[in-house]
Amino acid sequence: SLSIGIVGLPNVGKSTLFNALTKTGNALAANYPFATIEPNVGIVGVPDDRLPVLAGIFGSAKVLPAKVEFVDIAGLVKGASEGQGRGNQFLANIRDTDAICQVIRVFGDPDVTHVDGEISPKRDIETINTELIMADLQTVEKAVPRLQKEARNNKDKKAALEAAEEALKVLETGKTIFESGLLDREELRELHLLTAKPFLYVFNLDADELIDTALREQLSTLVAPAEAVFLDAKIESELVELDEEEALELLQSVGQDESGLSQLARVGFETLGLQTYLTAGPKETRAWTIRKGATAPEAAGVIHTDFQRGFIKAEVVSFDDLVEAGSIAAARSAGKARIEGKDYVMRDGDVVEFRFNV
Ligand code: GDP
Repeated sequence: SLSIGIVGLPNVGKSTLFNALTKTGNALAANYPFATIEPNVGIVGVPDDRLPVLAGIFGSAKVLPAKVEFVDIAGLVKGASEGQGRGNQFLANIRDTDAICQVIRVFGDPDVTHVDGEISPKRDIETINTELIMADLQTVEKAVPRLQKEARNNKDKKAALEAAEEALKVLETGKTIFESGLLDREELRELHLLTAKPFLYVFNLDADELIDTALREQLSTLVAPAEAVFLDAKIESELVELDEEEALELLQSVGQDESGLSQLARVGFETLGLQTYLTAGPKETRAWTIRKGATAPEAAGVIHTDFQRGFIKAEVVSFDDLVEAGSIAAARSAGKARIEGKDYVMRDGDVVEFRFNV
């Protein structure tokens, strides 16, 4: 499944945040059969108000949200791209993820030293981006001569060479591929560049900074068009120890109505270009994860590969139509249940029942 790598300089609250992610992940995993969790992986359910409503309509015993996987990528320090610290391991781990989440320190606790002496989100972002850009530069500088040679004998390689040369120019100006908008160049894909992955940012604030809209605005601008999530990692680590009611109380005491981890899951999901469709019955109501643009058979394949192979058709009701009708039977008699074939492109919030041959 798709995953997001969490990186950050030392002492920015990465472990604190990651421990909270692991706690919620373990609680969530108990609901999913056959889920195995690696020690460096944290899983968060994507909050979805539609699920309890559906569960009510169908009398479902269980509710399973879509989930996002976060991987702890330890070892980002200055010079990692030159093998400092656990540089090479760090780069290998981050290459395997589908998006990069940077944790940036904003909290100003004088008891927690900053590796570079003072708190500066802007400089920290530059430090991290520089390491990622340097690593990509090494990759592209190695690839260009190889592609030049290949392109001489094979004109299909020309596009790949041009893309690599273009990427080199971007990286040499100190920009990420993500910023440059070259993100979707198919020809770049084989190079597995780190800065071609989508980025998102977690700003770790002091509790009283959570309601500082001017500060949030300023930080958002710093990283746009990437998305930003604002949280206090210390509070997140406390929230996962509390029951729902106590957690809400703590959140409200700092002017929030949703945990940072929930926001992170939602934003991460978006950043990965994912959407959900829903299934519901007496046993469970469940959100399934698909890429935007997935067809009905591809969506069926997420439940089971046999469902994709034997796909016949799908009965689809939009969530809104189903709620308005009040039951699946009422939706059918109101003509709101559509029978869709193999070319149907799924929409977010489709409630689906697949018909298939086995
Ligand atoms: P890491 O090196 O990035 O993994 O950072 P840690 O999670 O180990 O945090 C370093 C120190 O900062 C620890 O003493 C944490 O308790 C503290 N810390 C983490 N997050 C926060 C925060 O949001 N506010 C404050 N005041 N301290 C924090």
